[in-house]
Amino acid sequence: MENILDREPLNKYDFTKMVNMWENLVFTAVADMIERNEMCSCQDCVLDTCALALNSLPTRYWILGCYDAFCPPEKFTEDVMNIRLAEEAVLKAYRLVQQNPHH
Ligand SMILES: [Zn+2]
Repeated sequence: MENILDREPLNKYDFTKMVNMWENLVFTAVADMIERNEMCSCQDCVLDTCALALNSLPTRYWILGCYDAFCPPEKFTEDVMNIRLAEEAVLKAYRLVQQNPHH
């Protein structure tokens, strides 16, 4: 699949600065579960679980380097409530993946 970001005029912008704030928390929760042997660590299960979990959470994008004094990115990723929401989303997503694994 061709990367749309290679197309003019989009190729002059750095879209890697635009990140989904939930990714960090979801990936952390998945890594913890794999380390505790609580989930299958194959590529299919991990990516399916991440995608399902991220789809279930509200969309929250951030532009890196763009500092907002009222809501810095650390405040979001260190928020205990957000960490718990991400963990719950991953657990729920993995339960669905387990019912119909692609591996
Ligand atoms: Zn698997």
